[in-house]
Amino acid sequence: MISKSKILSLAKRAVKSPGTYHAQWFITRKCNYRCRGCAVWMDQGSEELSTEDVKRGLDILRDIGVLEIVFSGGNPLLRDDMGEILEYASKYFITTVYDNGSIAAGKIEALRNVDFVAVSLDTLDEKKNDYIKGVNGAWRRAMETIEKLRDAGIHVGVSPTISQINLHEIIDFTKYFTERGIPVWYCLYTYDYQPNKGVFSIGRKNNEYEITDGKALAAVCDKLMEIKKENKYVYITGKTLRAVKQLALTGRRIWRCAALESFLVVDHEGRVSGCHCREPLFSIFDLPKVWGSGWIKGLRKEYSRCANCIYLCYIFYSVHRGLPGLLEIIFDQWGSIKDYMGK
Ligand code: SF4
Ligand code: SF4
Repeated sequence: MISKSKILSLAKRAVKSPGTYHAQWFITRKCNYRCRGCAVWMDQGSEELSTEDVKRGLDILRDIGVLEIVFSGGNPLLRDDMGEILEYASKYFITTVYDNGSIAAGKIEALRNVDFVAVSLDTLDEKKNDYIKGVNGAWRRAMETIEKLRDAGIHVGVSPTISQINLHEIIDFTKYFTERGIPVWYCLYTYDYQPNKGVFSIGRKNNEYEITDGKALAAVCDKLMEIKKENKYVYITGKTLRAVKQLALTGRRIWRCAALESFLVVDHEGRVSGCHCREPLFSIFDLPKVWGSGWIKGLRKEYSRCANCIYLCYIFYSVHRGLPGLLEIIFDQWGSIKDYMGK
């Protein structure tokens, strides 16, 4: 439940410094899974920021107007201090943490403060899901985790990555969860356009996943728009779905990228970048010094012309720019937002 006082404080910050309202923090490269479309687990050995440094970084993000933070990785819950980090972050941000379904059920107390736990799960087909994740038992663990978190009163949702391999199942998948009151939000399979050169390598090329059937993807977008009218648990906006549909049918982007404008990313070492595919720019501790500089303004312009990736989260935060974009999201998701507003 998001308290009314937190909503009020977020609203004040949104009005005071409208702009970069979303940050994704890839807080660790450690992962216990071996997903076939992911490069993260292939290099797990790097340094990570300490708990205190993460908190200092969160203060800096808060002060530049970030309202929402997503912790991903790797599996963030592999960090022993994640409960403490989530408790701190949740005071200031709408906070989401990702889990592949293997850890969250054993860390329920640490997740009490978080606003959303996103469990990645790609299909209702157990064997196929385990194949995608590269680990036997992944599907069963994820399904049990979702149930356990829900029973414990934690706001849990599922997050499938849409790819050619599950494209034709996404509607049934969505109905299965949303009809049970479990929110679904989506990723779209893609891969890094300059592997190992960005701040944090994630998407790995896999021909089996690459979406070749643009018409089927457009039909999925249409169907999700229809389901959304009846069901508030589809957590993707109509505007984003329309953008993806256009892209699928014509290859045309009806948005400009808003990296460093609506969103930024931070990696496990505390390096900041516009998106994970782009090179690291500066340490998060230098952010206050450089944020208003001509250099950053120039990069925003350069990135706004970039069309090198189709990561769905970046599309979402580009389609919904600045304060008007935030209001669009609130309007689109109002049915579910009001359920989570507490005292
Ligand atoms: S996609 Fe997520 S769960 Fe899978 S290997 Fe990569 S970081 Fe781990
Ligand atoms: S389109 Fe935007 S998010 Fe994607 S690679 Fe380019 S700058 Fe990054």
